[in-house]
Amino acid sequence: MDTPPHEAAASAARQEAARLTAKDIHGIALTWVDNAGITRMKAVPTARLAHAAQWGVGMSPVFDVYLSDDSAVTSRHIGGPDGDLRLFPDLDRLTVLAAQPGWAWAPADRHEQDGTPYAACQRRFARRMADRAARAGLRLRMGYETEWVVTHAAGRADGQAAGGNGSGPQEGLPRYAGPGPAYGMTRVVGLSDYVRDVLRALAAQGIDVLQIHPEYSPGQFEVSTAAAGPVTAADHAVLVRETIRAVSARHGLHATFAPLVEPGTVGNGAHLHLSLWRDGGNLFRGGDGPFGLTGPGEAFLAGVLHELPALLAITAPHPASYLRLAPSRWAGAYQCWGPENREAALRLIPGPARDAGSANAEIKCIDATANPYLTAGAVIAAGLNGIEQKLTLPDPVSGDPAVTGAAVPRLPTSLPEALDRLRGSDLLRDALGEPLYEAFLAVREGEHARTRHDSPEAVVSDLRHRY
Ligand code: GLU
Ligand code: MG
Repeated sequence: MDTPPHEAAASAARQEAARLTAKDIHGIALTWVDNAGITRMKAVPTARLAHAAQWGVGMSPVFDVYLSDDSAVTSRHIGGPDGDLRLFPDLDRLTVLAAQPGWAWAPADRHEQDGTPYAACQRRFARRMADRAARAGLRLRMGYETEWVVTHAAGRADGQAAGGNGSGPQEGLPRYAGPGPAYGMTRVVGLSDYVRDVLRALAAQGIDVLQIHPEYSPGQFEVSTAAAGPVTAADHAVLVRETIRAVSARHGLHATFAPLVEPGTVGNGAHLHLSLWRDGGNLFRGGDGPFGLTGPGEAFLAGVLHELPALLAITAPHPASYLRLAPSRWAGAYQCWGPENREAALRLIPGPARDAGSANAEIKCIDATANPYLTAGAVIAAGLNGIEQKLTLPDPVSGDPAVTGAAVPRLPTSLPEALDRLRGSDLLRDALGEPLYEAFLAVREGEHARTRHDSPEAVVSDLRHRY
């Protein structure tokens, strides 16, 4: 939606509003994700949806330089109290929220008051990059995994705290819900109604769940959803998180998607699965490259792999991201690729031989402090550059380099290091465009400055209620 829709959208919105009113829906949440990776919103009553679709809803551009603690920095183009933008709901995505009775949701695109697209709109960036791929005859399919940790919002604990299952709750630590071992059925039995309600709400909202399971850390779960186009995949990442948050609240639980809940443990990833298609064929399958990659499929992945140190500033953009991104935690701390290697930042998933459509790649060095729209767009830009430059993949890596001792480069180990790599990437600077690039960088620098004297414990505890 690069031009605001005006009258046509207003009449479509009037019909939607009538349908929603009949379902007793009173509020429509319009969301966007800022450069701190936080989903911010404005709501309109259902009766006002048509007006919002025609004229947009006002909002200050200053949110694009907000940090995760709601303090603001400034950047060359964005910052301060002046100016106003218009949020336009994407009516194709309008969804009744199953775990927030009376509410519906739509992601928003942002425009200037005169109707021109807002240059720093992250959702538009993802769409621009998907369009760039389309002009090269290519189509991306993407899906984010969602990992989260469930704790008791108040009251009793399940007798489970850090350092293992079964030890008593410790002072100051979150009280994990859902006792039992990693990947254990016990945890799902313990939270049976909760997990069912997550599934029920996602299904009611038209989200195709591929699987759901307890993850490694105490109270941790994961859900993965079906692949979609890049913008839709990012929309789904937002919707899935907010749905889980809402279901959790209805169960007296708290869900956090923050990269880490306690330093030194396995954290929450937000891995991105992707595949590249041309003329209905999956370019990660049926070629004569490694593991059946086609030439453009390999070049796309080589472009992503090459750009990963700079991309990391976008996909792991918070100081806490680097507390998660450690070796031997399946978080993808190494700049390498390998078939089904869960320690490689880029894991190739060839899929069953009979199912050519299933071949995909997983980028693991991503967490939920990343803006999913920026991640999707930046990954596409890096991959297309790989095709233009005819890049090839280095040898695949198997095993955990921390154990095998193989000489594999680590990705940046701190935010300042990743930011240095981003500053050196003309590719990402050009793709983002100056206003978005400058605002993004200012936010990331601000986040580093804000936390640089904090202990790891303070950095992560700060985030539990922010993401
Ligand atoms: N929780 C791990 C992470 O921080 C990922 C586990 C997995 O491979 O699903 O990324
Ligand atoms: Mg997982």
